[in-house]
Amino acid sequence: QTFSDLGLNDGLMRTLEEQGYSTPTPIQNKAIPFLMGGGDMIGVAQTGSGKTAAFVLPILNQLAKIDSKPKPGMPRALFLAPTRELAMQIGECVKDMARFLKLKQCTVFGGAPYKTQIHILNRGVDVLVATPGRLLDHIKQGNIYLDETSFFVLDEADRMLDMGFIDDVTKIGRKLISPHQSIMFSATFEPRIRQLAETLLDSPELIEI
Ligand code: AMP
Repeated sequence: QTFSDLGLNDGLMRTLEEQGYSTPTPIQNKAIPFLMGGGDMIGVAQTGSGKTAAFVLPILNQLAKIDSKPKPGMPRALFLAPTRELAMQIGECVKDMARFLKLKQCTVFGGAPYKTQIHILNRGVDVLVATPGRLLDHIKQGNIYLDETSFFVLDEADRMLDMGFIDDVTKIGRKLISPHQSIMFSATFEPRIRQLAETLLDSPELIEI
């Protein structure tokens, strides 16, 4: 299969070409068409499998279909990562992939000044990449609202649990009030991951590679 078989828009196809992505990886082949259909999904895939683009591409494709003005602090898509490093990597991927799309993105994580993050959030945001603690702080301070978030990705859910973020993650999940598509990625599929999926996802498809 090629990327053009997956139904991505011209802007994304152009980016892929420029980035030298010629063939989708196995997780991308399975996840992209499924996610374009709007269903919830659990992806079991390791780092290096191309899992980031597997959720970034279909979500950007869906966001780009709806012409909406980015609102201050009200992301339409939320990507949650356990660490600052991973959040930055996802943020880079979004930035690369969204080059030819009119989408605004922001990455927030702990240990960095609030001021810069608030400034970027206030310019309007379509895609927000965040670590759980800092996200909750911003929500508490009224800098971020998840009322209009319709895409939610929990990346590296197993590490999220290892790092003790279970309460934060479920709290964030409860703040998603509009209809939304939820996606969880994990390197393993064990009972505690299955349990978390039950609280966060709605009849998810399991995609393993
Ligand atoms: P990830 O598993 O998301 O951490 O991705 C691992 C690396 O593979 C990243 O540096 C991506 O830029 C790269 N990558 C992802 N998908 C593809 C693809 N289809 N073709 C070439 N490189 C890719």
